Amino acid sequence: MAGPLALLTSLVQPALDYALPPRCPACGEIVDGDRRLCLACWSAIDFFSPPWCASCHLPFAFDRGAGAQCAQCLAAPPDHDGVLAAFAYGEIARTLALRLKYGRRIGLARLAADHIARNLPDDMDGWTIVPVPLHRWRLWSRGFNQSMLIARQIGHDRGLRVNADWITRVKPTPPLRGLGKSARAKQMRGAFAVPADVRAAVRGARILLVDDVYASGATSGAIARTLKRAGAHSVVVACWSRVVHDDDRESERDQAH
Ligand SMILES: [Zn+2]
Ligand SMILES: [Zn+2]
Repeated sequence: MAGPLALLTSLVQPALDYALPPRCPACGEIVDGDRRLCLACWSAIDFFSPPWCASCHLPFAFDRGAGAQCAQCLAAPPDHDGVLAAFAYGEIARTLALRLKYGRRIGLARLAADHIARNLPDDMDGWTIVPVPLHRWRLWSRGFNQSMLIARQIGHDRGLRVNADWITRVKPTPPLRGLGKSARAKQMRGAFAVPADVRAAVRGARILLVDDVYASGATSGAIARTLKRAGAHSVVVACWSRVVHDDDRESERDQAH
């Protein structure tokens, strides 16, 4: 965009930013700093912290010792090398994720990157960031990929490269909600590919796969599998929020007794 309108916008925007008090991105309450949740929303969020499963970071009700894994990871080792989620998917996480997805709020990507950063390894030298891709039909209709926004922000903050072209969605997948585990896996089969021209770069790479919401894990699992089949050294999933089912926690409780 160029011309008088662009000039006007660039002159007016900083003034507006200055004049408007920062608001909680979840509920709209006035807060005392940008990118801050109000106290009520902050306290309502279930942030993930140890003790947790050594492999997928599902929080444990009690400390089961270093290296302990959750029932799911023990039953079927995941294709990825860990899930780093900031908090459990709930009412507030849902509002934030939807605003990022449909509201085109770049500031929210910054908030998401800040939350995710708390769980990232300190030393990420040589890592590459790859966002979960949208199929290009969805990209066209929506105009942007929310995982890409978060990935770019993390890349900027940590000085890491973002390679969105390392994985492509080659077939659109229907919503996976309501499908059983094997039906989901079937839908995801052949959904992703590593393009021939980046295969040499992918070989041996340590990858941080960035998603906004981690639900069943079917999507990131399929991507991790595809990247590793192409020779990636490791694929760690980082996401803003993760759906935790009651029975995930229930099974932890059962094992405690
Ligand atoms: Zn709030
Ligand atoms: Zn686990």
